[in-house]
Amino acid sequence: MEDKTVMGKKQKYIFVTGGVLSGVGKGITAASIGAILQAKGMSVSIQKCDPYLNVDAGLLNPKEHGECFVTKDGAETDLDLGHYERFLGIEVTQKSATLAGKLLADLIADERAGKFGGHTVQLVPHLTGAIQNAIQSAAGDSDVHIVEIGGTVGDYEGLSFIEAIREFAGRVGRENCLYVHVVYVPFIGTSKEFKTKPAQNALNDLRGFGIVPDCVGVRTDDPAPESIGNKISQFSGVARDSVVLLPNVDTVYRVPLTIAKSGIYDVLVRFTGNKKEADLSKWSEIIASQSANYAENITVGLVAKYMDNEDTYISVLEALKAAAWQVGVGLKIKWINAELAQPVDFDSVDGLLIPGGFGPRGIEGKIAAADYALSHNKPYLGLCLGLQVAVIAAARRAGLSAANSTEFQIDTPEDVIYLMDGQAGKESTGGTLRLGDYPAKLKAESAVSKLYGKTNIVERHRHRYEVNKKFIKQIEDGGLVVSGTSPDGKLVEFVEAPKASFFVATQAHPEFKSRPFAAHPLFVGFMQAIKDKSK
Ligand code: GLN
Repeated sequence: MEDKTVMGKKQKYIFVTGGVLSGVGKGITAASIGAILQAKGMSVSIQKCDPYLNVDAGLLNPKEHGECFVTKDGAETDLDLGHYERFLGIEVTQKSATLAGKLLADLIADERAGKFGGHTVQLVPHLTGAIQNAIQSAAGDSDVHIVEIGGTVGDYEGLSFIEAIREFAGRVGRENCLYVHVVYVPFIGTSKEFKTKPAQNALNDLRGFGIVPDCVGVRTDDPAPESIGNKISQFSGVARDSVVLLPNVDTVYRVPLTIAKSGIYDVLVRFTGNKKEADLSKWSEIIASQSANYAENITVGLVAKYMDNEDTYISVLEALKAAAWQVGVGLKIKWINAELAQPVDFDSVDGLLIPGGFGPRGIEGKIAAADYALSHNKPYLGLCLGLQVAVIAAARRAGLSAANSTEFQIDTPEDVIYLMDGQAGKESTGGTLRLGDYPAKLKAESAVSKLYGKTNIVERHRHRYEVNKKFIKQIEDGGLVVSGTSPDGKLVEFVEAPKASFFVATQAHPEFKSRPFAAHPLFVGFMQAIKDKSK
């Protein structure tokens, strides 16, 4: 592949790497740089390269890795892709999720197919070449393509990726590549000082691999003095105004503004040659609406099983926040442990949200939450598993006391939720769920069609089990109606309780399509209903 020229200009690439430790916010930094470039009128594409040997994120434990984000074309990816979509307002594809496991699996398949003509197959140049091809392919026709490299520079697994992005400058020209290194500077409480040594080492590591960064992002928990930036500049050889201090902020949506105010802005101007002033007013507005003092505050109960890692439900939380800003209410989240939940927990919140989930742990607590919402007219929003537990609750209310999903009780006689055709036997395999965008048709006059403002919609999916239509009568007797199906009418996509102030559940994951600047209609409807009810 050759370097690409878009509209007479060379395509630009920005690489974001991390040092000291992972999870320091490279994804937010990458997305924020993208947002600044968009605000200058440029088109931006973005990609995450993960060096670990998984083929995708589908089988990773959300407790360790956070949410599995699903793209429209059905890739199960790292949660950073969710940040990218929210910050940039775009929909990425599987090309934006590049995992070493997938590249290696493809390389080995090619080797077996005899495509290397008898040559030795090696990490360099074959894997590094495949990484570079994946980067150019993901870049499409954008003005600027941003590539975040997961993990920390120096990790064994990551070496091929660091080498690939170093070589990439040879492919497209160093002047078309910008390297941004994000490092962490710890604060030592006993001596009350910030320690730059790990960051210095991390910068040395990167230089040792042949990359001198153009910019350094310095992450700290609390604001660090300017002297920390000076020191890092001195030791890294990166100009002081290209070193930006990035302390923790109250909201991630502040980061584009912080970076735009720093010397990195001028670096971006020089790098892209785009002198147009960035219009970041929408970011200022969103921060103002987030920090506003609302007259009304509402509490949403999130009935969940992973209680110790908020990242597990990050898109759901961001979708709730976006809806709260749009409706103009303050939002409080109350985490309700599905395994211990009691009616008093459901009673103590203004609305209940049941997010997606897999496996039997905590399931009875979620069914109890749906039952509580149905019998107490408590606003309810069910996402994927949240629809399935609502259907189980309704069927039980109609007298099917053994109603269950075969996911949780394989031999249940009343299998109101059961395996889709073709899914049997695939329960623990990767990439075999019903994934990505699927259309649905909504019943005219239903609550959901009013919220969407149309009857044909598309939402992202990630599930294996379906509503068993054999039990529709009992589900209806229990208080729910089917308000949306697949276009052929075979699969139940939405249910709602017509008598409730708001009880809506979907087999899809609408949270993936919510944006900070365009809240999702189902979340807005949920929030509005809670606000109206509390009047
Ligand atoms: N475990 C359920 C299924 O596979 C729900 C999945 C989900 O909530 N994403 O159908």
